[in-house]
Amino acid sequence: MRRAKTVVKNIFQIELAENEYPHTFRGTMIVTTDQLFKVAYGKYAVGAYNINNAEQAMGLFKGCIDSQAPFIIQISKGARKYTDKRMLEAVIRAADTIFPEAIFAVHLDHGDEETCYDCINSGFFSSVMIDASHDPFEKNVAITKRVVEAAHKKGISVEAELGMLGGVEEDIKVEDGNACLTDPKEAEEFVKQSGCDSLACAIGTSHGAFKFKGKQSLRFDVLEKIKARLPQFPLVMHGSSSVPKDEVDRINQAGGKIQDSAGVDPNEYLPASKLGVTKINIDTDGRLVWTRVHREFFRDKPGEFDFRPVGKIFIEEYAKFINSRNHFLGSAGQLETVRKALTQ
Ligand SMILES: [Zn+2]
Repeated sequence: MRRAKTVVKNIFQIELAENEYPHTFRGTMIVTTDQLFKVAYGKYAVGAYNINNAEQAMGLFKGCIDSQAPFIIQISKGARKYTDKRMLEAVIRAADTIFPEAIFAVHLDHGDEETCYDCINSGFFSSVMIDASHDPFEKNVAITKRVVEAAHKKGISVEAELGMLGGVEEDIKVEDGNACLTDPKEAEEFVKQSGCDSLACAIGTSHGAFKFKGKQSLRFDVLEKIKARLPQFPLVMHGSSSVPKDEVDRINQAGGKIQDSAGVDPNEYLPASKLGVTKINIDTDGRLVWTRVHREFFRDKPGEFDFRPVGKIFIEEYAKFINSRNHFLGSAGQLETVRKALTQ
């Protein structure tokens, strides 16, 4: 006889009766990032996509169902402030009932300690990131440890960060000279001491649309060393948008002025996943899709002021974009495998 199992349902730990299918429970399947990582580790990476509004949520869910991929919804502090944190939560809950097949985690992106506690206590988030990477090592450990203790009591996963990426994230700008790669030995110590469930590492990426000067690759050498010290431990790659040249060209041809932008080669996502990268954050690329769609639409229809036709185009284009990313990540086609693993 199989034992009843525990899954996270809207964050309340719920004991499921034997053979009960979590997916049918309240029509939702919000899981923790930890649950997704256990299935994905070493095989593929799960896409973590930031959303701010209903159109992005619709495109994201549609793209993940079209590609049959599990995914992570990321909510930043800025996104919670943009309309109202309750609005975003309601949008996600609604999307979840519109797409009952979806399996996903709800994750706070780059939280400070206070925001982490707010999300842990919200009853909605299944995962939080505490980012104290700008603090000295010991302080980063201490803050992360406190958040881990609070989160684990509620069955919520915690991502932490060690090392500093360049670029701009929310209101923090890191100048190129101050960015530093994650030290593999420190990473091992940090994980041991803090008890975090996953670790964002600086391995050559940076936030925003202007990642590299010229052609540059991820630091697979650093990644290999981290993996050797932390086998089976999920690593996270931030600032991983590819910033496609054709997308930027189309924006600029429609009146935009985005210059010297460059991103990560999406063909490097899968090789990185074999080295323990289990979550890949993609935000900038989604903003570029929005900008391209809206600029082109209003350039071609200067008399238009109904925003619904262009909103509909955006949802379709964003879904297509998400679908293509999930194929690069290797998460496309994994939905049923994840469902089976989580319901066994
Ligand atoms: Zn980030």
